[in-house]
Amino acid sequence: MKVVKAPAKINLTLDVVRKRDDGFHDVEMIMTTIDLADRIHLTPLHTNRIMIDVTKGYVPNNENNLAYQAAQKLKERLGINKGVSIFIDKQIPVSAGLAGGSTDAAAVLRGLNDMWGLGLTMEELAEIGLEIGSDVPFCVHGGTAVARGRGEQLEFIDSPPPCWVVLAKPPIGVSTKEVYQRIKVDQLTHPKTDVMVQAIESENFKQVCDHLENVMESITFNMHPEVRKIKERMKQFGADGAVMSGSGPTVFALTQNDSKAERLYNGLKGFVEQVYPVRLLGKKHT
Ligand code: ATP
Repeated sequence: MKVVKAPAKINLTLDVVRKRDDGFHDVEMIMTTIDLADRIHLTPLHTNRIMIDVTKGYVPNNENNLAYQAAQKLKERLGINKGVSIFIDKQIPVSAGLAGGSTDAAAVLRGLNDMWGLGLTMEELAEIGLEIGSDVPFCVHGGTAVARGRGEQLEFIDSPPPCWVVLAKPPIGVSTKEVYQRIKVDQLTHPKTDVMVQAIESENFKQVCDHLENVMESITFNMHPEVRKIKERMKQFGADGAVMSGSGPTVFALTQNDSKAERLYNGLKGFVEQVYPVRLLGKKHT
């Protein structure tokens, strides 16, 4: 049996550049991995099939699971007649803007590449991953990157200065599709992605905090006002910066100060059940 870690990501910036003719949107966003992770157990089977089991009832335990699709894609592409049982110990909140499904798929691609001795490169795995979802290529690599196109054109950069990431997820799920449908690309104020890249490369934590920005935030805030409230409280509790991740509803606060992180955790716990104090992971999978 093999255990693979599948870390969540957060968006430090998220911009939507244009709507394409194929229905996808071109984005420009900075993503980085955090040490909140699902654990995936891969057990070889003697029969030529894929079995899947997940600890959370509302995550599909059939072919709709992105981890299942990852195994299936690998089998199809390479003509593999082997079976695997996939067990997902789910720690990442679902439909939360943290790429939980995408990172499970990516971890299965990495894990099976190893277990089945396929010898595919990370780039080849990322290319297969793109057929499953736009965030899968980034999750295959991990680390910190500016993602463009659908999210598959990755420019890897340094990781941000070490800090606490205090995540809070209200008990609602947000549909990424619905948020995209409400975006009016020509009316957006675009995040300063280049300034954020500079801030990260020069290890300027304050500048990183000052440039956290996500064009989906106002849309999700309008649909779910409690998400805006969480961000406001984070600022009140001393966050150096706070922003929503992906299409939400998870909001995260950054701070380098241990006691501020504790205050944020305790303060937020008062009115949101799911609060996670974690660290940035800050490195690429090898
Ligand atoms: P993103 O940030 O990429 O938009 P998300 O964090 O908002 O993703 P996910 O947690 O990936 O959302 O879940 C989105 C949907 O995908 C859910 O409706 C869920 O049922 C489905 N899904 C399929 N496979 C998985 C998986 N392995 N883990 C979680 N959700 C999955």
